[in-house]
Amino acid sequence: MTTFREIPLSRPDICQADIDAVVAVLQTPQLSLGPAIPKFEQAFCARFGCKHAVALNSGTAGLHLAVRAYGVGPGDEVITSPFTFIATANCVLFENATPVFADIDPETWNIDPAKVAAAVTARTKIIIPVDVFGQPAEMDTICQIARRHDLKIIEDSCEAIGASYKGRPAGMLGDVGLFAFYPNKQMTTGEGGVLITNDDQVAMLARSMRNQGRDPTSGWLAHPRLGYNYRMPDILAALGTSQLARVDEFVAKRAKVAEMYLSRLGEEKRIHFQKIAPHVKMSWFVFVVKLADTYEGKDRDRILQQLRERHIGCNNYFAPIHLQPFYAEKFGFKKGDFPVTERIADRTIALPFHPNLSEVEVDEVCRVFRGLL
Ligand SMILES: *Cc1c(COP(=O)(O)O)cnc(C)c1O
Repeated sequence: MTTFREIPLSRPDICQADIDAVVAVLQTPQLSLGPAIPKFEQAFCARFGCKHAVALNSGTAGLHLAVRAYGVGPGDEVITSPFTFIATANCVLFENATPVFADIDPETWNIDPAKVAAAVTARTKIIIPVDVFGQPAEMDTICQIARRHDLKIIEDSCEAIGASYKGRPAGMLGDVGLFAFYPNKQMTTGEGGVLITNDDQVAMLARSMRNQGRDPTSGWLAHPRLGYNYRMPDILAALGTSQLARVDEFVAKRAKVAEMYLSRLGEEKRIHFQKIAPHVKMSWFVFVVKLADTYEGKDRDRILQQLRERHIGCNNYFAPIHLQPFYAEKFGFKKGDFPVTERIADRTIALPFHPNLSEVEVDEVCRVFRGLL
């Protein structure tokens, strides 16, 4: 069995129609603010049944604009998970507000609603639940907490396009939802994101702030508010429209690959898996296993290194945000503050995962991985 050929951690699925869509835009003079943008946004509105979709140049930009649209600033608190991609929490820092972490559920690895409830104070403005690895957070309970305390919910669904919770699509479970299109996501535009919402005011502000604070009726050099350049280029919007048309296919193919892994590793006692709640439809973003608690962080790092030496792409997912040096320094976080997150984060291994991973490759990964345990 060859180990020369690299098995990458992830790989996008780009077809001829995607390439043609990009080239078609390149043959027009409208490379920005052209018709590809509303076409892409309308495709999201049609799929999700939302009033507004705002195309952006990243998921992070979407999180930032959502936080800004709700006027969050110094002194305000935003509750989120320490077990997520760092952008989820950074968007709070962008506005000099205070991130308040609530630890995760040890089984689902999503934010624990009881810990969210305990973290609410008079200063809390927003909750940002994250649909970790493509599994929607426990949104009914989180929405109840938000209603009780008059809080807004920004759903970080950047990893969960195509997932659903009790039949409702991820991204539509809070007041605002975000999707991201980095190449390892279920669908890609290279870089990109979209904000979806039924809130007219949030959509108006996001549209203005992505475009240097302009209003639709103001001129090119009139800027009624502070804005940014968070615009998505038209070639990427065209790629996104083409990819969105195949997203259900991607999600189904990823589910098949996840099944392949689970059928080979499911009985392995030395590893654990993210528990998928019965009322959730998963949209697999990455395939992450957790080593048993008898392993330590250094054992995990050894296995990651040995997998890489054998040309198998892998990574830890995620590093706890509160222990990133600048968070620890700024807010005084230390080891032990969020023990569930720390115990899991020390032991995670993301295995190669993309829609076109073959049975032969999954066999090879599982054989090598087992041998290293
Ligand atoms: C990918 C991702 C984002 C946004 O990432 P960008 O690279 O800015 O598009 C935000 N939150 C989570 C949880 C993500 O996985």
